[in-house]
Amino acid sequence: MQKHEKVIIIGSGPAAHTAAIYTARALLSPLLFEGLYAGGVAAGGQLTTTTEVENFPGFPNGISGTELMINMREQSINCGAKIETLTVDSIDLKNRPYTVTVGADTFTTDSIIISTGATAKRLNIKGEDTFWQRGMSACAVCDGALPIFRNKPLIVVGGGDSACEEAHFLTKYASKVTLIVRKDTLRASKIMQERVLKDPNIDILWNTETIEALGDKALQQVRIKNNKTNTESLLDANGLFYAIGHTPNTRFLNGQIDCDESGYIITKPGTTQTNLPGVFAAGDVQDKTYRQAITAAGSGCMAALEAEKSLS
Ligand code: FAD
Ligand code: NDP
Repeated sequence: MQKHEKVIIIGSGPAAHTAAIYTARALLSPLLFEGLYAGGVAAGGQLTTTTEVENFPGFPNGISGTELMINMREQSINCGAKIETLTVDSIDLKNRPYTVTVGADTFTTDSIIISTGATAKRLNIKGEDTFWQRGMSACAVCDGALPIFRNKPLIVVGGGDSACEEAHFLTKYASKVTLIVRKDTLRASKIMQERVLKDPNIDILWNTETIEALGDKALQQVRIKNNKTNTESLLDANGLFYAIGHTPNTRFLNGQIDCDESGYIITKPGTTQTNLPGVFAAGDVQDKTYRQAITAAGSGCMAALEAEKSLS
């Protein structure tokens, strides 16, 4: 039997739970699908893959990422949201009410809030499983200020705007930052390139690949290879930060919503509205610039208020 909902929220990070809290308090009785390792991330989203979160307001001593997400989930339920630990397989947006398919079940809904996030790309090198979150991370802005990185040699991998921005950011904490670039050019915008090229605290290794993470309890060294000469060497490093791009979790949309060339959902500036009425996008799935928990939560609030307005 097909069940009808006023609002279905897809995702389980700060955007989804903020949208759930607001739509529940607006008495819309939202149904939230939190996913079952969707996009390779546990329910609760990207923050479940980190240790301390020190920049989410309200927690003067920081809070563990997992605990923060457990709290948000509990708050959604306390406000009246219904949560299913299931991954949405597909949605059909041809006619309104829209249809959402989850395994063998289908639901119709008047509005949808998509907050399925994005997954940071990884290199999957040798040693990565051992040293992930023990010196290795995919978010320098989030983790770079941790005490283990203070006055230590740090590495950033990538050649885009994120890599340049993160390398520059880490110079505040590191004894030295090395940027590892697989080609002999940077893909980053000219202004970002200039910033790292001029920075005496950033060394750039061109035509270089990262092939192994080594250490004892935490990361201590990284094996690299020059892909022109094929010579391998070891670099001392207490931090290895990937900045090689993200993959937005939008494949299940099957091209029905306007996305940019990288797959991020396009929203009307200053709103969370997609190109379809009653379909909203919040959080990292529509944001490749800020990508922070607080900005995701803020856009989740916007999506909920816009959904409420569209339904009234
Ligand atoms: P996400 O957190 O990306 O969660 C989306 C969820 O949706 C995932 O659980 C996914 O499994 C689920 N999903 C995907 N597809 C489906 C589907 N089809 N059906 C159902 N569910 C689905 N930000 C900070 O502000 N401070 C920090 O300290 C910080 N540290 C970070 C550390 C790391 C290692 C990383 C990777 C990120 C960090 N960030 C931090 C960034 C922050 O985690 C993200 O900006 C934020 O989580 C984005 O929230 P979101 O709501 O868009 O979704
Ligand atoms: P990009 O996709 O632009 O860049 C990814 C970088 O990682 C490229 O240099 C790429 O190399 C490299 N890379 C990819 N895969 C590998 C791999 N397997 N091994 C080694 N290197 C790899 O991602 P960004 O996150 O940098 O940027 C995404 C978008 O966000 C862009 O549009 C960017 O402009 C924007 N942005 C803007 C900022 C700003 O304006 N301040 C800040 C951050 C992001 P190659 O070049 O060889 O393909």
